[in-house]
Amino acid sequence: MPVACVTGASKGIGAACARALAAHGYDVALTFASDREGAQAVAADVQGAGRRALVRALEVRDAEDAAAMVEEVEEGLGPIDALVSNAGITRDGPAVRMHAEAFAEPIAVNLTGAANVIRPVARRMARRRGGSIVAVSSVVGRAGNAGQANYAASKAGLVGLVRALARELGPRGVRINAVEPGMIRTRLTDVLPGDWRDALIARTSLGRLGEPEDVAGPVTFLCSPAAAFITGAVLATDGGLAL
Ligand code: NDP
Repeated sequence: MPVACVTGASKGIGAACARALAAHGYDVALTFASDREGAQAVAADVQGAGRRALVRALEVRDAEDAAAMVEEVEEGLGPIDALVSNAGITRDGPAVRMHAEAFAEPIAVNLTGAANVIRPVARRMARRRGGSIVAVSSVVGRAGNAGQANYAASKAGLVGLVRALARELGPRGVRINAVEPGMIRTRLTDVLPGDWRDALIARTSLGRLGEPEDVAGPVTFLCSPAAAFITGAVLATDGGLAL
């Protein structure tokens, strides 16, 4: 059976990806930062779908532990066929007034943290000449958003990482792509001011917020052999959001 690893799988988009991958026949390793209960509940759903699940705490900023996690997952479930690099945070505020530490946090988690997981997985996939990686970027990385300069920088950087790695890894049979979700209903967006949310919905062709499952579908497709000739791509998953 194919094996998938999803970072930040305790809730939101990562949880939906883990469930969707299990429904498509993957055994799934799920990582979380602090919400072990959430991750265990998602793991129970994976097992309910008849697949194996492995739950592992991981702070993606810790590169050494990320490499150890990858090793443990491969020992526990077998070689990773698909990685969904999803863990991410926001630290919003006007860039010119933010403390340097808060400003740097999304870049440390969403960009450097993603690379901390992607690199050891890619190394192993390249050795085996196969595998698919999907990074969860954001429409904000492409269009920018006032109050999210650090987040936008982290997500635009992630797209650069994906495009460069697609060139490095393609000759070795490994694919890497990104999805760019628009406004998806999760903990991350629950905290946004209502008028901000309404304005975004008004600019979305489909006239609604996305659900985590709306992202999980395209992610599962990009992981699958159906996407065998797609690498270095950035797939908008935003309901037609015009920013
Ligand atoms: P949630 O806040 O619901 O989930 C975030 C997940 O990431 C959780 O599992 C969390 O773990 C984990 N996580 C957070 N920080 C770390 C860390 N330092 N190390 C390891 N894991 C961490 O967010 P979403 O589901 O909304 O977001 C998932 C991804 O999608 C993010 O990369 C986000 O930027 C991106 N995205 C979201 C959009 C949206 O509208 N919601 C739009 C575009 C992109 P724990 O629960 O244990 O804290």
